[in-house]
Parts: sequence; C-alpha cells; structure tokens
Amino acid sequence: MDGLSNIGVIRDVLSRHGFSFSKALGQNFLVNPSVCPRIAQMGSAGPGFGIIEIGTGVGVLTNELARRAEKVVAIEIDERLMPVLEETLAEHKNVKIINADVMKVDLHKLIDEEFRGLDVAVCANLPYYITSPVIMMLLEQRLRIKSITVMVQKEAGTRLCAPMGSREMGAVTVAVNYFSEPKILFNVSRGSFMPSPNVDSCVVRFDIRETTPPGVTDEKFFFSVARGAFSQRRKTLVNSVSGSMGIDKSVAAAAVQKSGLKENVRPEQLTMEQLIAFSEALREESLG
Ligand code: SAM
Repeated sequence: MDGLSNIGVIRDVLSRHGFSFSKALGQNFLVNPSVCPRIAQMGSAGPGFGIIEIGTGVGVLTNELARRAEKVVAIEIDERLMPVLEETLAEHKNVKIINADVMKVDLHKLIDEEFRGLDVAVCANLPYYITSPVIMMLLEQRLRIKSITVMVQKEAGTRLCAPMGSREMGAVTVAVNYFSEPKILFNVSRGSFMPSPNVDSCVVRFDIRETTPPGVTDEKFFFSVARGAFSQRRKTLVNSVSGSMGIDKSVAAAAVQKSGLKENVRPEQLTMEQLIAFSEALREESLG
C-alpha cells in the first residue's frame, strides 16, 4: 500500500478495522516515513536474501522489506492485525504472514522450508517487553542467519552493544559478543512512533560470527557462569558467582586464581578471553 508509513494513512486503516493498541504486546507503530527504508537497507534486505520479520504491526517495515528482498516471512502474534495486513500488503506476493508467538515458532524448520537457496537475515522493530529473550533465542539457536537488525529501546541498545570490559555490559552483552559483532546503527526519537513511548530508541545490527570464540567446552555452563557473574554486577566475581550459582566461595576463588585474574576482579572488568578462562577453570574446579 502506498504511503503506509504516513500517520494519516495508518490512522485511517486502523480505525476502519476497529483496531485499538495493546500496551501488553508492545504495540508502538512506526509513523516516521524515513525510518523503515533505512532499517530495510541496512538490514540486508536485497536480492538473494530472505527476511524474517518479528512483529509486523500494520506492515510498514514489512512493506519496505518486501520491496527489496526476495522473500519475507513475518511473524505477528496479534490475530486482530491479520485482516489489516491482508489489505496493507495485498500487492506483495513475496510475503508470508504467520500468526504466532515468535518464541514458539520452530525457526530452524521455517528457514529450511521457506528460504531454500537464499541467505537469511532477521529485521524487526521489536516489542520491547521481550527484547532480550528474543535476541538470546535468535543467537543461542545458531540459526542459519547472516545478521539480526532490530529496533530496541536506546538503553537496551547501549547494553546490548557494549564492548566486553565496559561498565554498561551485562550477561546479554556476553552472549551478543560471543555469537556476533554488534553495532549501533542510528537513533530514532520517541516521536517517530504511535503511540509515542516514554523513551527514545535505536537500531542495532548483530553480524553473526562464522566461528565463535575458542576455548568453551560446555556452552550451557559458560552462559550460566555469565548470568551468575552479572546477577550481582557490582560485587566481585567470586562473591557474585558463588552467591548466585550456589558454588562454594573457595571453589570460585580457586578458579579466579587458576585463570590468572586478580582476587577482587569485578565481572564488568572481564574480557571475553578472561571470562572463558574463568568459566573453564570453574568447571574443572567444581568437577574435580
Ligand atoms: N513493525 C511494526 C512497526 O514498526 O510499526 C510494529 C512494531 S511493534 C513495536 C511490535 C509488534 O510485535 C506488534 O505488532 C506486536 O503485536 C508484535 N508482537 C508482540 N509480541 C510478539 C510475539 N511474542 N511474537 C510476535 N509478534 C509479537
């Protein structure tokens, strides 16, 4: 549909369908015409690419993705938007809408069935209430995807893209840096949405690494150590890990020493290599 990101057109479509926004589903729709073309372009939508979109709203981003990519499969949880999308995306024969919760979709199967022979990328203006779980789910599954380009709240973007060893980092930063190279692309003001949220946003891109950092014997254990370390981020690594993982303090202290770290090191001071060395040492200490 032409002019779909125009606020008047969106209002008209939504009111004709008797649609009311759901706060619980994070429904803040983009009404700034310049934003979606940029997300689509920077999110790899182009020839040879299949795009997975999460959360279509009225289809403003879907529309831009469909214009550029070979195929778009969009997952939207809100059944009330299905008749809206039938109207707004009618002209695009390369779009498939799945009415489902993205957390319950088998994405490996979806990629195999829908994107044979195509490179795949994820593009979305994410519902903010599940930003981290969605990103973790996309990364941890090791899907056959090249990149994830998503709009998130500005604060979440800063945390997600924080370099290892910086004050802003958290457990999710570890996962993001382990699986990808993260980058903040551009900021988007709160006035670009309807209804307007209380915070500004930014668009971030995670370029998926072909190989993850070496030295991790058990990924599940490594990420539980990362979560444990950052559960009490201002404490020392020994106190935080022993407190949250139920591991004896002397065992955590031995692992710190074994991995060549200072006794009172804090989680936020660790590089990826140091966290891996600590996790491996902790695994050995607690096994033996
Ligand atoms: N892409 C649209 C835009 O930019 O205007 C809408 C973005 S809005 C921030 C988030 C969308 O995600 C909403 O349409 C909401 O219904 C949908 N959504 C929320 N939770 C979801 C879930 N678990 N799975 C799939 N879609 C979801």
